[in-house]
Amino acid sequence: MAELLIVVAIIAVLVAVSIPIFTHRLEKARRTVCLNERNTMRRAAAMATLTDDIDWTKYSDSAEVIAKLKDMGLIEEFECQSGGTIYAEENSIKAGNVSFRCTYHDDGKKPGDEEENLTGTGSALKNLQDALKDAWESYIKDKNNSKNNTAFLQNFFKNNNSEDYLKKEKVSDVLTEDQIEKLAKSMNEKQSDYTETQIKSVLQKYANSELTVAPYVLRDGTIVYYYTEDASRFGKNDSTNHSTTSMMYYNGTWYMAPMASADKLKNGFYPANFNSESPSEFFGKEGWIAVN
Ligand SMILES: [Zn+2]
Repeated sequence: MAELLIVVAIIAVLVAVSIPIFTHRLEKARRTVCLNERNTMRRAAAMATLTDDIDWTKYSDSAEVIAKLKDMGLIEEFECQSGGTIYAEENSIKAGNVSFRCTYHDDGKKPGDEEENLTGTGSALKNLQDALKDAWESYIKDKNNSKNNTAFLQNFFKNNNSEDYLKKEKVSDVLTEDQIEKLAKSMNEKQSDYTETQIKSVLQKYANSELTVAPYVLRDGTIVYYYTEDASRFGKNDSTNHSTTSMMYYNGTWYMAPMASADKLKNGFYPANFNSESPSEFFGKEGWIAVN
């Protein structure tokens, strides 16, 4: 009887272990299929340019591009098995060199999220924000927990895989051409060492980069988010890494960091000082400029 119980227990353990592994493999396979399809579509679009002189810059959006490719018989109907939607990336259409993205595999949007209004908010932020809101609420309920950025984030990333929550997004998801125009003007007013054009070109370079959205808990418990180049140390006993912060998100608004001095402009912008008590103190004193 005891042996039988042990066997049953071992089988139960094996099943419990193998289900997540199987699910993980299945998702990996779906991701690969989706990526291959997008590569095929990209090649089809390039082919259309080569053999039929199709100028994609004349097409206004993803729907038009995909319709044309289907029309030409270069691609077939394809559905991402993870529930994502495949679309032609806007900037790649403008450049005439079309590439395709998946709303699930590239942008991290869960199926069904599509109708949600994400204007001015990148997908990486949304993903992280939802997870942290709940985690913070249950964390502070425990009186033993200290309301401290490092303590909370170490706790969070001990229980959650950082790769699932710290995602990259194109900064241009939230920093648009129009906003760059306006920002360059107001930054030039504060920092006359550089011309508007010079500031604009730095902003454009920044907008074209892909950065990770990472969290920071201010001393009053408010969670703010910021772009970072290197999030590799999160979840590895060091959640305090907050390098290269030029943009920070708080309560529906992204803020651009001020330029502290002329030489900072070369490397991007002023790194944030995270020691503030509250958002009003933080954004007030530091002279951040609202982006959206
Ligand atoms: Zn996909």
